[in-house]
Amino acid sequence: MADVLFENEEHKCVFFDDYTEGEMISANQHLIIHKGVGMLLDPGGHKVYSKIFSALPEYTPPSALKYLFLSHQDPDIVASINAWLMVTDADAYLPQIWTTFVAHFGVDATASKRMHGIPDEGRILDLEGCPLKLIPAHFLHSAGNFHVYDPVSKILYSGDLGAALSDYRFVEDFEAHIPHMLGFHQRYMASSTACKLWAKMVRTLDIEMIAPQHGAMFSGKEMVNQFIDWVEGLEVGADHMQSVYQIPK
Ligand code: FE
Repeated sequence: MADVLFENEEHKCVFFDDYTEGEMISANQHLIIHKGVGMLLDPGGHKVYSKIFSALPEYTPPSALKYLFLSHQDPDIVASINAWLMVTDADAYLPQIWTTFVAHFGVDATASKRMHGIPDEGRILDLEGCPLKLIPAHFLHSAGNFHVYDPVSKILYSGDLGAALSDYRFVEDFEAHIPHMLGFHQRYMASSTACKLWAKMVRTLDIEMIAPQHGAMFSGKEMVNQFIDWVEGLEVGADHMQSVYQIPK
């Protein structure tokens, strides 16, 4: 089911609530529309593609998609990229270090010309006058990883950071939500240092909502700040898993 997270006369943020099925990990897709031009974030896998493509015209014609954003290289993010490039004129932006890897998902030679690498430092992407910030989130979890900050809606799209296995749309009780996030973050996030650097960086932004690619969203400044504080104090990845580095007996 799709829903609108933010709307004014010229700007709209649409949320596609988990179009996955079967054994797929649940995943959310997001669409930002500014002055009639769109960017689709983390479009997902093959089966999700047909559902999002069907749902899209209620909000924007596929021909009005200008950008496809891929936060990192995982299949639940990028597997349908060739189909999206074939049916739209959109340009895809993904971490520079993953461009030649994502090509293995069967991107046709003509379409690959519209795949662009984002440098490690990130960049601003102009969506019809709306300066979307593609901000570095490397090692959270992927080695090349970006988040999107929308300065109009003040939504930070955080990809896998904040992911949870939960069946509610918004986090109401942060402490009760932690058990749904903790194991995923300890295992999938790569670096405690990156967690601290990310927290310091995003505190400089005016954020009203954090929208992960899996599970519930964090709405309102209080919830947003609780989440940032939680990330800052996490011990994850290799720091958390030192005991497993032993030869199996
Ligand atoms: Fe991922």
